[in-house]
Amino acid sequence: MGSLTDPRYIRALCEKYDFRLKKSLGQNFLHDNAVLEEIVDAALPEGGGVLEIGPGFGVLTEALAGRAEKVVAVEIDDRLLPVLADTLAAFDNISVVHGDVLKLDLPRLLAEQFGDMPVSVAANLPYYITTPILLALLEKNLPLRRIVVMMQKEVADRILAAPGGKDYGALTVAVQYRCEVERVCRVPAASFFPPPKVDSEVLCLTLRQSPLVETKDEAYFFALVRAVFAQRRKTLVNGLANAGRFGTKEQISAATERMGLAPTVRGETLSIPQLAALADLLYG
Ligand code: SAM
Repeated sequence: MGSLTDPRYIRALCEKYDFRLKKSLGQNFLHDNAVLEEIVDAALPEGGGVLEIGPGFGVLTEALAGRAEKVVAVEIDDRLLPVLADTLAAFDNISVVHGDVLKLDLPRLLAEQFGDMPVSVAANLPYYITTPILLALLEKNLPLRRIVVMMQKEVADRILAAPGGKDYGALTVAVQYRCEVERVCRVPAASFFPPPKVDSEVLCLTLRQSPLVETKDEAYFFALVRAVFAQRRKTLVNGLANAGRFGTKEQISAATERMGLAPTVRGETLSIPQLAALADLLYG
């Protein structure tokens, strides 16, 4: 049995199972022991269960299983099921679930698979659906401790951004509202087979006990956030007035004035607490 961090073994498995990597499913497999250790340390400082998204050939799955009480790995590609049955045969604390993580009933899966066990998510995510997967994990208010995910560096920059910069946007607000965010490590393209065209970064998102700010109505707050960042070139007042559902230009101007903001302020310079305060002033 070879090591899943040895590209020669990955190639041998591809041959044995006549498996062709699918770019369309983001199949770039990690083969860097140091990065695997960083992900496991960040996801499981104190043991418990792990939900892995996209196990591929199982390199991260087996690293997690060495530390976790239980690993549940959700894989969309049915061609990988026989490979995983082979590579993970030595472990009795791993369940592989065939499915699309965006379509599964995650609250039910977590309850059925983990019961009361504390659960983290760990994943080397397919880059093309990183944002929808993160938003699905956060919006469903799942009982998770933390989410440790590898993503394209540019997406990590957007999640970590501060107000005012080009990277600051609706994704920043959605993630920082619910999580404390830390960088775990940068990962060069050469750490994958085959190497992707971009550099990657692992982030650790620790779920907050309660959101960063209180708002009168969360759905209204997020609608306002989306409207603010959809019209980045306009002033805050004009952008929100155009959106239609946040009041008249005069009402929006009055609210920004109450907050001590300049009439020409741009929405992308507002911090998350300021966006929440504005939403509350304009709500109902
Ligand atoms: N965990 C492995 C590693 O680190 O080498 C593989 C990571 S690879 C970047 C992404 C994996 O996610 C692939 O195995 C792919 O088939 C799987 N995948 C893609 N879309 C998925 C989805 N919607 N639900 C579940 N798995 C998915």
